[in-house]
Amino acid sequence: MTNIALDAEQLSLTQKLDQLAQVAIYVGLGLKAGQELVMTAPLEAVPLVRRITEHAYRAGASLVTTLYNDDEAALMRFRFAPDASFDHAAKWLYDGMGAAFKSGAARLAITGANPLLLSDEAPDKVGRANRAVSKAYRPALELITRHEINWTIVAAATPAWAAAMFPNDPPETTLAKLWNAIFETSRINTSDPVAAWKEHDAGLQKRAAFLNEKRYSALQYRGPGTEFRLGLADDHLWMGGGTTAGNGLYCIPNIPTEEVFTTPHKDRADGTVTASKPLSYQGTMIEGIQVRFEHGRIVEARATRGQEVLQNLIGTDEGARRLGEVALVPHSSPIAHSGLTFFNTLFDENAASHIALGQAYSSCVRDGDKLTPEQLAAKGANDSLIHVDWMIGSSKLDIDGITASGAAEPLMRNGEWV
Ligand code: ZN
Ligand code: ZN
Repeated sequence: MTNIALDAEQLSLTQKLDQLAQVAIYVGLGLKAGQELVMTAPLEAVPLVRRITEHAYRAGASLVTTLYNDDEAALMRFRFAPDASFDHAAKWLYDGMGAAFKSGAARLAITGANPLLLSDEAPDKVGRANRAVSKAYRPALELITRHEINWTIVAAATPAWAAAMFPNDPPETTLAKLWNAIFETSRINTSDPVAAWKEHDAGLQKRAAFLNEKRYSALQYRGPGTEFRLGLADDHLWMGGGTTAGNGLYCIPNIPTEEVFTTPHKDRADGTVTASKPLSYQGTMIEGIQVRFEHGRIVEARATRGQEVLQNLIGTDEGARRLGEVALVPHSSPIAHSGLTFFNTLFDENAASHIALGQAYSSCVRDGDKLTPEQLAAKGANDSLIHVDWMIGSSKLDIDGITASGAAEPLMRNGEWV
């Protein structure tokens, strides 16, 4: 251990929150002077929200607006609201967020919700409530999935999330443990986190450029419970790290991020895939997922826990049974290295190679932002109300790239880049 690393570890929680806030504003968002910022956060994240707000104004933000979520209030709805409530969403709020994005606001989400919050609630109500939100949020979310604005997600430790992650630890120790895991995997435990992020970003860009040069037509996966071939969309583009949004600002949409990813072909997935980690989906846990694809469509889906939620999820619409993202992450990423399962997609998707059911990112198709939905679909980009990542990578997964002529080239062996 170097002295510099030791110094970084000795910083107080407030100092580290401040560094995370700086990474969020200067690296994650690339916030521009004069820009508005719309932030969402769990109630418990107030200390981080205040650090971020300060740095946003220091960077010249014209206005910072934070919308807080309260887990307890969300539960009261499931306990006491009339049945019709679950088909309802605050459309006016999502329309307002869309209007803010259209008029130039940046978007920052702080994640930290209790991953088990809704696990005892009726799957039907959970499914309907999620669908209503997906529908209401879609117009605003499209500005994000199309990367028209600069946006990012960072994490804040919350007591309920920490308790879910470390159920066997003394309760008074779990919050600090989760904060440390967030700082470690978000590259805050270094002497200069902003510089560390710039270097890491360059590495991901290089990996994406390599894959874009290769122009593989498909990927072939082999591992325990997985024998799977996935075609890539025509004119697909691999992306990793930061991206220049449609508003011209360079942002890194996830802190942390370890993935390079692209758009698979919605009609070209065949074989069986087994998840390598549990999937935490909107407050419920789906475990032991195994699905079989034919011509891009899920024809069989099983889970050892949360089977009904999984069925509801893939029944959302036709596109929910097809894939919208494929991502490669080496098993040696700091998140995998931590050995922790976070029950939070921001972290778990960056711990392992993954695929996502549902909506494709049009930015992962060449000139995708200029194409009509029909043109995107013709190239193989999937369309859905949902986008749900699930982890299939492990130290036992091998992946080959299949060239246009059908030759197989080793890409990953035992979960690591060849
Ligand atoms: Zn991903
Ligand atoms: Zn994804």
